[in-house]
Amino acid sequence: MASYLDNDIKYLGGVGEARAKLLAGELGIRTLGDLLYYFPFRWIDRTRLYRIADITEASGETFVQIRARVTAKQFLGAGRGQRFSVAVSDGSGSAELVWFRGLKWIEKRIEAGREYVFFGRPHFFHGEFGMVHPEVEGLEAAAGKPAGALQGVYGTTEKLTNAHLETKGISNLVASAWRLAEGSVTETLPRRVIDEQGLMGLRDALFNIHFPQSPALLKAAEYRLKFEELFGVQLDILSKRSHRLTRENGFMFPRVGDNFNMFWSEKLPFPLTGAQKKVIKEIRADTVSGRQMNRLLQGDVGSGKTLVALVAMLLAADNGFQSCMMAPTEILARQHFASVSRMTEGLGVKVAILTGASKAAERKEALEGAASGEADILIGTHALIEDRVGFANLGLVIIDEQHRFGVEQRARLWTKNSQPPHILVMTATPIPRTLAMTLYGDLDVSVIDELPPGRQPIQTFHKTDADRLAVWGFLKREIAKGRQVYVVYPLIKESEKMDYKDLYDGFESITRDFPRPEYQVIAVHGKMKAEDKQLAMREFKERQAQIMVATSVIEVGVDVPNATVMVIESAERFGLSQLHQLRGRVGRGGEQSYCVLMSGEKLSKEARQRLGAMVATNDGFELAELDMRLRGSGDIAGTQQSGLAFDLRIADLGRDQQIIELTRRVAGEILDADPLLERPENVLLRVLKERFAPKTPKDFSNIS
Ligand code: ADP
Ligand code: MG
Repeated sequence: MASYLDNDIKYLGGVGEARAKLLAGELGIRTLGDLLYYFPFRWIDRTRLYRIADITEASGETFVQIRARVTAKQFLGAGRGQRFSVAVSDGSGSAELVWFRGLKWIEKRIEAGREYVFFGRPHFFHGEFGMVHPEVEGLEAAAGKPAGALQGVYGTTEKLTNAHLETKGISNLVASAWRLAEGSVTETLPRRVIDEQGLMGLRDALFNIHFPQSPALLKAAEYRLKFEELFGVQLDILSKRSHRLTRENGFMFPRVGDNFNMFWSEKLPFPLTGAQKKVIKEIRADTVSGRQMNRLLQGDVGSGKTLVALVAMLLAADNGFQSCMMAPTEILARQHFASVSRMTEGLGVKVAILTGASKAAERKEALEGAASGEADILIGTHALIEDRVGFANLGLVIIDEQHRFGVEQRARLWTKNSQPPHILVMTATPIPRTLAMTLYGDLDVSVIDELPPGRQPIQTFHKTDADRLAVWGFLKREIAKGRQVYVVYPLIKESEKMDYKDLYDGFESITRDFPRPEYQVIAVHGKMKAEDKQLAMREFKERQAQIMVATSVIEVGVDVPNATVMVIESAERFGLSQLHQLRGRVGRGGEQSYCVLMSGEKLSKEARQRLGAMVATNDGFELAELDMRLRGSGDIAGTQQSGLAFDLRIADLGRDQQIIELTRRVAGEILDADPLLERPENVLLRVLKERFAPKTPKDFSNIS
């Protein structure tokens, strides 16, 4: 159905070909409707006045409004460099306001000695507050604003700003689009849902999100639009789910055979925890249900997910199916291969490995074994996804540290049999259940909420450079007890060169302070060849060195129970979930383990909170919640790669969990009664659902 809202933006007054192209390229805005759905990301109170003295670099305001008297005005410079400068004062302090464009016009408007209201982004020059191109209003106009008047701030880009589409410019376009299209906005939610949930109508919501008439109306508008978005997402996820559950095409693993039994009675190195047993039961139930399993296994670092995965793979083998297990790094894949091979020694299963670094013979063995069916278990990295990897009868796919893979990458494994294999994705990043289901689509969630017995909680300390000698002394005492130590340096893409410099400098100073022959130090970093990395890890595991200096490559997949101290340098540069992951590399044996967070003295408020939280708790779940609150879901570890295929414009998965829960419930009730949304009163919902269906490639369209 064509609507006025589908009209091309270029016909809107003030846009034209060039700006239309920019808006499409930079923000994906092509139609009037797109523009109306381009929401401000915050709103500022245009009735609040700041005192100049209170505006400092540290206070961090993005926009301020001051009421100040003009004490002097003058043109400065000449030719293209000419500018117009106005000195103002409000009694608390003074500031310089500068214009580079429209000088004549502004010079005429501003009289020396008079008071105005100025509004804009603070700039600091040598610590002095000023503004460039502030908006100017006479006192009468400013006084005419209703109390609580809010103005939307829109995201913009450098290119758009150069075309005079800064936030004000965008707001003006939205205003004219609104005047033209207001009458064409039709409701997207059924009347019944609106009434039952007490939602604002769409037209009022769109108006108030851009031009809030009061804080209360803005809140109602935000709520309504978030509801719409999350509701659409849930309708999509839940209809896929009911589709999966009604299609009786899951492989059956009814047999508990020799592999499983022998492993259980002879190989199992320790009793399973209650939580591990519970999850194995859930997997058993899924794999005899006749439906395809799609399960997320969440368990803190060190909770023993690998063992659960292995048991599932043995079940598959007992029923004549192959399994594959994909890990995000070479090191981790090698480690899984080593431990799975060790634990299945003497059983009737054949294990193979395939990674990007596999040599010809290993590669041949893996590819042929998978294709012929001779290999029961194939472990590897992204290399497993490649087209040339084919299976005789793949029945189970396991993905470790799943947030490190994109949806599309993961989905490629789904298609390696004539019907989709069972899927178990594992993560150590604990996220609330509903959020997990929203982020990763149609999944059941299992949680390992119990660590193996005998683990002592890791003790965490925050230290600064001033404490370094004491920290080194502590390491020496631990080493004297026969323990091993990690020292990790951050690796952040933007400044790779510098990071490696940190690592090398660190390595040098550590070899100086921990000299041979008493101490052996090994370095591992991302730029090393895969086999050198493996060698170094092996040497460390075999205790040929007491100290491993590394970049965050060891974040996942190092299992050296004898290592008891994790020192994290420049800890303030790591995110919470990464810190927690790194810490999880120690505390894997029976000995008391420690994590030392090193940082400078000066820390931002957020960094201080992060490090404080690490010291205060070992609970990954608590840390994840805090992380989400501090950063919003946009940054949750891996959210970007999670392939959140729908585009959320206003809802925030981290902060809007209550609305997620609510919309999930409402969508579930509606779909229970009308699974295909065929009833006349649900027609609008079918449209809404389509709008939020991920745009994944065709092959994967029935998989989420
Ligand atoms: P993660 O969940 O982080 O992947 P792993 O599977 O690597 O954890 O297990 C961490 C360590 O705990 C390994 O050394 C593993 O052998 C050990 N482990 C796993 N399950 C148990 C258990 N039930 N009892 C004792 N140790 C266990
Ligand atoms: Mg693991």
